[in-house]
Amino acid sequence: MSELTLRAKQLDAADELAPLRSRFALDDVVYLDGNSLGALPAHVPDRLADVVRREWGELRIRSWTESGWWTAPERIGDRIAPLVGAAPGQVVVGDSTSVNVFKALVGAVRLAGDDRTEILVDATTFPTDGYIAESAARLTGRTLRALTPEEVPGALGPRTAAVLLNHVDYRTGRLHDLPSLTAAIHAAGALAVWDLCHSAGALPVGLDEHGVDLAVGCTYKYLNGGPGSPAFLYVRRELQPRFDSPLPGWNSHADPFGMSPDYAPAPGAVRGRVGTPDILSMLALEAALDVWEGVGIDAVRAKSLALTDFFLECVSAYTEPGRVEPVTPAEHGRRGSQVSLRCADAGEVMKRLIEEGVVGDFRQPDVLRFGFTPLYTTFADAERAARTLAALLG
Ligand SMILES: *Cc1c(COP(=O)(O)O)cnc(C)c1O
Repeated sequence: MSELTLRAKQLDAADELAPLRSRFALDDVVYLDGNSLGALPAHVPDRLADVVRREWGELRIRSWTESGWWTAPERIGDRIAPLVGAAPGQVVVGDSTSVNVFKALVGAVRLAGDDRTEILVDATTFPTDGYIAESAARLTGRTLRALTPEEVPGALGPRTAAVLLNHVDYRTGRLHDLPSLTAAIHAAGALAVWDLCHSAGALPVGLDEHGVDLAVGCTYKYLNGGPGSPAFLYVRRELQPRFDSPLPGWNSHADPFGMSPDYAPAPGAVRGRVGTPDILSMLALEAALDVWEGVGIDAVRAKSLALTDFFLECVSAYTEPGRVEPVTPAEHGRRGSQVSLRCADAGEVMKRLIEEGVVGDFRQPDVLRFGFTPLYTTFADAERAARTLAALLG
């Protein structure tokens, strides 16, 4: 046994989170794509079958009240809240991340007031955020400027309405400084909107602590909610009474069954809703969140850093110098829960890695992406992935 396989064994034996892996349906594939689609928690199929057979099949319409369907968006929001550092009553689940980016950004611009004429957006963002920001700017009559998160503090001013930023860069795995960027945005009198797709469930976010105004995030990545599971929207409590959603559907009405032709927004997180919730996906997500019972996000972060450190060490030990170049920062304070490696022929290399039972993904133009989900990824996985990669490249 090599020194690194031995170390992996010891690290796994000492890992307090190791027993959580058995809560997931996994096989001997090294699954490092949980930042794209989280693995299936093993109990979800039975729960979903019960939702379909009994709640839908037998109770039918009664389930809206008797099975708690109607209140699911806020109830599940309150289960996600502690994972992102939010007190109850500020997170609502529903719609896709893209739709929530729209609600949050237009809502932020409306909160900022008419004299603030510019929106800033992260130029390195996952494309959908940029597309939505462009449309939001056009609809609200604001100008849009795209720049890197590092350039944001220097670009802020009395005309800045809102800034849309990613907490972790989806391509490089770089973690941006949410506390200091939020503080700089507030010092300029603007609103901070954060996209937490690659941090929710992977590391502490501290939304309340850092005074974030609005935030959105995915639930099918590190929260394992299942393909297309609904996203979440956070609106800070103090802003809720003035939050003016650009998609004021009947589900966000103060009296939805009053069927009034006039709109009156509900108080609280409910105001972030639009239409009828996608109950099947939503209840799959709710069940998936059970795996977090008794798990602290700080322990998850500690393991995530240990896993990515160990993977980087294995890559560097096994791979000929110069064959791959880490693009994820080595510094812990700037690293999300993934490792991205720049590599010639990255698309072809990933295809072959997957054939060898190591599943990561490829991002244009030359990036191999490996996501580490501390709830189920082992140190042995990290070692095997690095060893398989090196064998392919060598
Ligand atoms: C995954 C991801 C999305 C996905 O948006 P959908 O509307 O769910 O397709 C959006 N933004 C970021 C930063 C992401 O990583």
